[in-house]
Amino acid sequence: MTMMERAAEEPQVTYKRVLLKISGEALMGDQGYGLHPPTVARIAQEVKSVHDLGVEICMVIGGGNIFRGLAGSAQGMERTTADYMGMLATVMNALAMQSALEALDIHTRVISAIPMDQVCEPYIRRRAVRHLEKARVVIFAAGTGNPYFTTDTAATLRANEMTCQAIFKGTKVDGVYDKDPKKHADAKRYDVVSYDEVLQKHLGVMDASAIALARDNNLPIIVFSLDEPGGFRGILAGRGTYTLVKG
Ligand code: UDP
Repeated sequence: MTMMERAAEEPQVTYKRVLLKISGEALMGDQGYGLHPPTVARIAQEVKSVHDLGVEICMVIGGGNIFRGLAGSAQGMERTTADYMGMLATVMNALAMQSALEALDIHTRVISAIPMDQVCEPYIRRRAVRHLEKARVVIFAAGTGNPYFTTDTAATLRANEMTCQAIFKGTKVDGVYDKDPKKHADAKRYDVVSYDEVLQKHLGVMDASAIALARDNNLPIIVFSLDEPGGFRGILAGRGTYTLVKG
């Protein structure tokens, strides 16, 4: 194969460093609760396929498959305690993902906003950046470390701190729709939508504080389907359907 033929075959990668945000529910498969190891392994494979392109990847994983602070407080728990339980749930998910990635020979570090030294590293920004430069996948756990926030906001915060070029938000559908595509056959997908429109129309991409933080720092959000095999890699290589949220 000539050099030119090889260059034509290699995908054009537009992003050097990205943050992948997935909800905790993405890890539970069809179980309705908790962790489904084969599903975690499948997502790890998707991450590996992008890592193989030479893209630096960090991740934020939610905790909703195990515990959500709001649900706990609705049942009478003190809100901040319930939120700390939610943050601890994200640490379990991060460890499960680390294990799945390391089974694929991807060096992975879990970094927690709440120090727990026997389990994972504490959050030190420069150290996290260094891991990324060394091609390690970094999983940010325990959200922002503060109650009353979500892991979407944690994702936007960390993506800014790591100077990521975009957040990839993996969901069950291939982008942002004007109404729920699982309920309405005539729902329309946006190719591009502005942060302000997402906020005004309550389009449900991420919560409002996460969107505002992305908007104020001009951080693009790419919403895509995590259920589509090869979808994450496809978008990085310039293919596939998704919605781009930008200014
Ligand atoms: N959480 C929090 N502060 C943060 C991030 C998360 O208190 O910075 C708590 C909150 O209770 C939340 C839970 O952790 O309900 C799980 O996170 P999230 O709901 O964002 O998970 P996802 O919906 O993405 O699975």
